[in-house]
Parts: sequence; C-alpha cells; structure tokens
Amino acid sequence: MNPRILIADNQGMMFEVESASEPGNPNIVNVFYEDMIWFCTCPDFHFRKRICKHIRQVEDFIDRKYEEYKMEV
Ligand SMILES: [Zn+2]
Repeated sequence: MNPRILIADNQGMMFEVESASEPGNPNIVNVFYEDMIWFCTCPDFHFRKRICKHIRQVEDFIDRKYEEYKMEV
C-alpha cells in the first residue's frame, strides 16, 4: 500500500499511510515532514520518539518516486 500525498509544498509534506497492524482492520496514520524532522501520529512514534515503520514507508516511497523521476528525465 503506497502512502498517499496529502500536502507537498515548501512548508513541508504530509502523507496518509495505512497501518496494517491488525489484519482486515487498517487504521490511517499521518506522517509529516517539518523543519527537517519526520513526525508520525502513531503511538509507536509518540511513545518511543523515534523513526517508526510508517516514516520508513514514506521515505521508501519518496526514494522510489525520485528514481522514477530520474528515469524519465
Ligand atoms: Zn508511525
């Protein structure tokens, strides 16, 4: 499941990511990037204050997009 871009401008970026922690019961978390820092609305990020799987998912997504862009140019 690809993250969905909600906002992407010079203020920052926001993504919607499906969290498949419970099979058949996905919940949506928001991942955003502001002042060079990643944030996520999931409990994992909130309690442990470190990069969670959703942030990694978004980073991978951006990397793939960037690779596609390089191929097209
Ligand atoms: Zn998260």
